[in-house]
Amino acid sequence: MAATSKHMTTAIHWSSLDDVTVFSGIAAQWPEHPAEPQILALEVGPKLLVQLALPEVSGGMEWFQFRSHLLGQGYQISHAVTAERHLLRELNYGGQGQAQQQVQDAEVERLIQASEPVQNFKRIIGELIDIGASDVHIEVRTDVAAVKVRLHGVMRHYKSYPRAMVLDALGAAFTVLAEELSRTDAAFNQRLAQAAMIPLAHQSKAFALRYQSHPTVGGLDAVLRILHLTQSTEPRSLERLGYLSDQRDQLKLSIASAWGGVFIAGITGSGKTTTLNTMLDMLVRQGGRKIVSIEDPVEYVVKGVSHLSIQRSHSDTESSNPFMGAMRAFLRLDPDVGMFGEIRDRISGQIAQSAIETGHKIFTTVHATSALGIVARLSSRMIGIDRRTVCSLEFVSALVYQVLLPRSCLACRRPAKQVMSVRDLLEFERVFELDPETFFCASDEGCSECHIPGMEQRAEEGARLGVAGMTVAAEVVTPDVQLLQLLADGQDFEARRYRMSKRKSGFDTPDTAGKDAWGHALYGVSQGAIDPYFFINTFGYPSAFKNILQASRS
Ligand SMILES: [Zn+2]
Repeated sequence: MAATSKHMTTAIHWSSLDDVTVFSGIAAQWPEHPAEPQILALEVGPKLLVQLALPEVSGGMEWFQFRSHLLGQGYQISHAVTAERHLLRELNYGGQGQAQQQVQDAEVERLIQASEPVQNFKRIIGELIDIGASDVHIEVRTDVAAVKVRLHGVMRHYKSYPRAMVLDALGAAFTVLAEELSRTDAAFNQRLAQAAMIPLAHQSKAFALRYQSHPTVGGLDAVLRILHLTQSTEPRSLERLGYLSDQRDQLKLSIASAWGGVFIAGITGSGKTTTLNTMLDMLVRQGGRKIVSIEDPVEYVVKGVSHLSIQRSHSDTESSNPFMGAMRAFLRLDPDVGMFGEIRDRISGQIAQSAIETGHKIFTTVHATSALGIVARLSSRMIGIDRRTVCSLEFVSALVYQVLLPRSCLACRRPAKQVMSVRDLLEFERVFELDPETFFCASDEGCSECHIPGMEQRAEEGARLGVAGMTVAAEVVTPDVQLLQLLADGQDFEARRYRMSKRKSGFDTPDTAGKDAWGHALYGVSQGAIDPYFFINTFGYPSAFKNILQASRS
């Protein structure tokens, strides 16, 4: 994960006035009453702040709200530090004094902020946020720079710009806008692989862009992941995400149970974080529970959840690991429920295991390629939780695996038989016993209903632009004793067969018992909601499933 695990919070701690950066005033404080400030924003330039907080509130809910509020007002935060209590008090009383020295620097800073490259960067990213992009890919080549976006899970060309303009914009973003301590280098350099965290306010919402670049022949590739720091007001539900009725029933039971882990797997970009946060929303709405999340870094702020950010660095070793600190912080807050961004190594594995073993309910994501595969992943050498522990009765509450597929726009979809070859369609009939007469494909050119504003239409890749959002195809497993026994014994193949033997209905029904994520997707295909082309793209040709289906029958 290289530099991506750098944080919005930092390990810098101020213990005396000597440590304090020159500043011109205090832009905001929390709480409002000044006697015992816990968080301060020092103005170090026009609209440029250093966020200062007591260690115990740094990275917490108030800390994030404070930050979101300021970013929403158009401030940039150059970095965040922790400080002694007496220092916060002294700064708050005497702070107004040191002002004038900064005026000149401030003027320079104002000019930089108003500069064309900075404005260009903010404008382009703003447009992409508006159309719902989650990732931005910028490919700078010898003559031109292409901006591509991941939209509804599909990589699309957005626009092309002059090379120099894009390089200047990236340079300004990296050198001026990025948080100083999040940068791998002091200044932008197109010949280096660089990473940074760039705060950005857009339409009074706060965002952070996780920037990574790498030189390529003739230029560079930059990838910016858009993180939403302001809570979305859109209501989230498992149904809207695409979970079917029996999956939702299973998940509601798992979410409500007091113990065990709900593990969500999927590849990068499969929407597992969104599912995780939707479940947390559901828990918050039920009330009566203290929920604490530990993330690295915090990607979405959920109201009613205390978010902690892990202090991890590249030099972490097993002996000096941040696990103890994170676990202490977690237990100190006396939560009922823990949310861990991702279990990806021994440290995060230990945190999750300790939390479950001390009687907490946990929610987390794992990189695995199937629901049952989560067990193998958790007990792999990389994460190192004993398989017997993972398969004990109270460890797993639900295993979820999901992928995202584009949903065809209903206004412009076309009958599949007008688009696809008879041979391909007959395969669906032969292998899955589906009726291709009910299939639809997304239209190539899209329509006014599904058109994305600002997007350049490109004939050579116009294929299947007629999509309207994404839908989940998932498998939800709440293991019974027999399944746990097979998995505990390492009989993964038998476990899979056992699970698939539970299938009692055809692939054109919404009953998901014993079906994998592809089975869920086939239901979408049979309803004309998912283009068979995207099914093949995601899972493979029907003929590839013959063995699997045969194994489940024997
Ligand atoms: Zn359409």
